[in-house]
Amino acid sequence: MKKYNFYAGPAILPREVIEEAARAVNDFNGKGLSILEISHRSEDFIQVMERAEAAVRKLLEAGEEYAVLFLSGGASTQFFTLAMNLLDKEERAAYIDTGSWSSKAIKEAAGLAQVKVVASSKDKNYNYIPKDWSLPPDAKYLHITSNNTIFGTRYKEFPEVKIPLVADMSSDIFSRPVPMSRFGLIYAGAQKNMGPAGTTLVVVRKKYLGKVSRHLPTMVNYQTHIEKGSMFNTPPVFPIYVSMLTMEWMLSQGGIAAMEKRNMKKAAKLYDEIDRNSLFIGTAEKEDRSIMNVCFLLNEQKLEETFMAKATEAGCVGIKGHRSVGGYRASIYNAMEMEGVDVLVEVMQDLEKNHG
Ligand SMILES: *Cc1c(COP(=O)(O)O)cnc(C)c1O
Repeated sequence: MKKYNFYAGPAILPREVIEEAARAVNDFNGKGLSILEISHRSEDFIQVMERAEAAVRKLLEAGEEYAVLFLSGGASTQFFTLAMNLLDKEERAAYIDTGSWSSKAIKEAAGLAQVKVVASSKDKNYNYIPKDWSLPPDAKYLHITSNNTIFGTRYKEFPEVKIPLVADMSSDIFSRPVPMSRFGLIYAGAQKNMGPAGTTLVVVRKKYLGKVSRHLPTMVNYQTHIEKGSMFNTPPVFPIYVSMLTMEWMLSQGGIAAMEKRNMKKAAKLYDEIDRNSLFIGTAEKEDRSIMNVCFLLNEQKLEETFMAKATEAGCVGIKGHRSVGGYRASIYNAMEMEGVDVLVEVMQDLEKNHG
């Protein structure tokens, strides 16, 4: 039976990508070797790296002033890595706290340099994006989480500031166009909208690097990875390969503009149903709603089991909400087809017809 994968991450990948990856696990490029057993120094893998980097540059419209890196350790490792590379101990950065991931980024940076949290939406369990704040005059960058995976909110417009923006885009990278020139650094764990778990994309404007006096361990120093083309040590070969396939799939579908169009349609359909259906209620403020992670609650607790059972029966998996919000979360990343949203909406409508 067909499954509709609404998991938040690791998350849905395009069927074509999975099939191509499966072929490469058996035999990569007809060379009689698996992608899992080739050398990262082989010509075949060097080409994968080049194609992956080219796809990132095309999708983000990132020019040569930016370095594109595929690293390990997840987005969580970037929380401290970026602070170490961009700030000396006595220097300050501004952070906006819009959820659990922002808080973790703040905690890591605060142990290394001066951090000013200029705004937080914690007062309302992170159901909105703060709009009223100002920067300290000495802030070197402003860190935001562009999409809050757990709470289902996002920056619809990115802040316009005179200092570089640093953004954790783990859960909405490649879902919509971004004004790249405003960003000093963006990073994203691959496992939401870019590929499988195991690699993290970092795109950094090179001129901001090499300015700190602190000691940077070799692996933490972005310049190491820039000089070695993300191959200072063994890179995560398979996750980078599958990310490359996924990004090339996005390009073949019309690129970011096409992705955004599809994503807006899917999100609108689901939110319309949440707003229309008497049994459901959305958790995020309407103007800040994510188009990747749609969070909602059932009005009547007694229907929870029935709803889950009906959703499972229809093939919908992964809709249970994060424990800090409760209820449901339907993650509708790029690879989710409208069909999956249609099926979930039907389940919600049936529930209302039978129990509303
Ligand atoms: C999932 C997620 C992370 C954590 O990513 P890891 O790769 O597991 O470290 C960080 N930030 C956001 C916004 C996320 O959605």
